[in-house]
Amino acid sequence: MNLYDIYEPGQTPLPHQNDDILALGIDLGTTNSLIALAKDGKVEVICDEFGNSILPSIIHFNDNGDIDHYGKNSVSSIKRFIGKSYEEVKNSNIYNIIDCYEGNPGIKIGSKIYTPVEISAEILKQLKKRAEKALGREVSKVVITVPAYFDDAKRLATKDAALLAGLDVLRLINEPTAAAVAYGLDKKKQGQYLVYDLGGGTFDISLLKMENDIFQVVATGGDSELGGDDFDKLIAEEMLKTIDGLLYKEALRIARKLKEELTDKEKAEYENFTLTREHFASLTKDLVNKTIKLTNKVINDSRLLPNEINGIVLVGGSTRMPVIKEKLKDIFPITIYDDLDPDKIVAEGAAIQAESLIKGSNHLLVDVNPLSIGLEIMGGMVEKIIPRNSTIPASFIQEFTTYQDGQSGMLFHIVQGERELAKDCRSLAKFELKGIPSMKAGIPRIKIKFVIDADGLLTISAWEETSSVRQTIHVQPSYGLPHEVIRTMLFDAISHAEEDLNARKLLEVKSEAERLIYQVNQVKSEIENYLEKDLKEEISLGVDELKRSLELNKQDLISTEMKKFENTIEKLAEKHLELKFSSKLQGIKIEDLEKLSK
Ligand code: ADP
Ligand code: MG
Repeated sequence: MNLYDIYEPGQTPLPHQNDDILALGIDLGTTNSLIALAKDGKVEVICDEFGNSILPSIIHFNDNGDIDHYGKNSVSSIKRFIGKSYEEVKNSNIYNIIDCYEGNPGIKIGSKIYTPVEISAEILKQLKKRAEKALGREVSKVVITVPAYFDDAKRLATKDAALLAGLDVLRLINEPTAAAVAYGLDKKKQGQYLVYDLGGGTFDISLLKMENDIFQVVATGGDSELGGDDFDKLIAEEMLKTIDGLLYKEALRIARKLKEELTDKEKAEYENFTLTREHFASLTKDLVNKTIKLTNKVINDSRLLPNEINGIVLVGGSTRMPVIKEKLKDIFPITIYDDLDPDKIVAEGAAIQAESLIKGSNHLLVDVNPLSIGLEIMGGMVEKIIPRNSTIPASFIQEFTTYQDGQSGMLFHIVQGERELAKDCRSLAKFELKGIPSMKAGIPRIKIKFVIDADGLLTISAWEETSSVRQTIHVQPSYGLPHEVIRTMLFDAISHAEEDLNARKLLEVKSEAERLIYQVNQVKSEIENYLEKDLKEEISLGVDELKRSLELNKQDLISTEMKKFENTIEKLAEKHLELKFSSKLQGIKIEDLEKLSK
């Protein structure tokens, strides 16, 4: 179907005037992920059609192992696995983990195997789809955030996931940096800030230093096993003492709800269990104190005095808890930046960076290399070539020589980390410079050049000065998916689509319809009491007809029924949004998004 736009005389836009490039910001979180758009100084997180800004970082699978919204199997917190080797994760007993592609972990579900890169790609695809639906146009250019401590392998794996999702990564930036950008701290002449990020399962604390347009991550710390989930566990355990026959899993779900309620209320209740703020504070005192201890450690590591710190930026859903804010206010009598939504600010900062990058703004952030990069030398020691916190992009050259007469090759082992011994650091690559002309030991002048790009990724070249022997590699960590594998994955995805386009389309339409029914039912039950009878009936009828078409398993029939249902859904969504806004819940209006995309 073609739509023709009609304009007032003289108002017709020039061809392509409106298709300026858009770039989005993505917070690919352990628990939740978000996608945001910045345009002309305004930044908004993009919601789904029901006003949800947060996408849980969970992928569902059916028993076969196919991705399926309603599948009983699920994979969550995949960010804990990204860029790690099989050896590092094999003992985590949550999933059935196997060794695939030489040292990489794969999660076996039904008859299928998924790498963490593929599962992360699935989350990114869902965010991409959400944005495209809301903006009514294709999007591909993004800035993705990663934790400040992510090493080369984890950054590269994140980029691979984006590639699989059909995204073009303009830049990877550090999560705390993105949060600081959202507050505009990068525009200040100078300052030192703590970024306190308490999410669902992780606690990250970073100290950022802003000076002459350079953001440095001076020190990082935290605990990868401390987050909102631990607060839930403590409440759940209390509940189990008072309520008989409650399953632990169910208790956890309710505990989370109570905890979140308690953020806005003095007490929260479930059956005969009452949780007051006071009780909650005493239950969780140790967890809160642990974050303070880790914060103090980072301040010590940075060698700054507490009074040299200009403020604390709060990030992550769990910083909403009053117990956190109160404690921080008590301990650190400095500005607390908490007026932006802590769930959204990382995605928002990423979006602001994305806009600067496509506009070629001169206000570009300079980041730093998160972990030192070095070479293994005699005795398994590490010689640091690019120190931690060097500003990037940058390049470094180091000179070596041979230690044997007539030595024709030299082996380099590149590692990343702060430890003294190579075996304690992360191995990034091994490569050999061959064909060195025969000379006495100590005569050849072998130079090795490290180029680190703005994403913190490395390219290395080595050559012998007096001859033309030369070798260059783009560092592919010693494990991590080989580029060939990524290419095959992409190719498979494409060829599969060509081979079996119709079956695929049917599956897609079916899952879209099923998702729609599920969401409609959910929203309907949420606002049941506010719906007029006519609309209720219209919805039931639509759902029934859509279900019938699903049983018949015909793609065009399902599409037709969905189309017919659109009008009703729109009414439902409108009502839902209206109620959401009147009850001051968060969300962004569809119309606002349209304005943004214009
Ligand atoms: P991540 O960065 O790990 O993906 P988020 O920053 O999205 O995680 O934080 C998720 C956590 O925030 C969950 O534990 C959730 O219960 C908690 N959370 C969200 N909203 C609230 C609230 N209103 N009060 C307390 N905790 C909240
Ligand atoms: Mg986060």
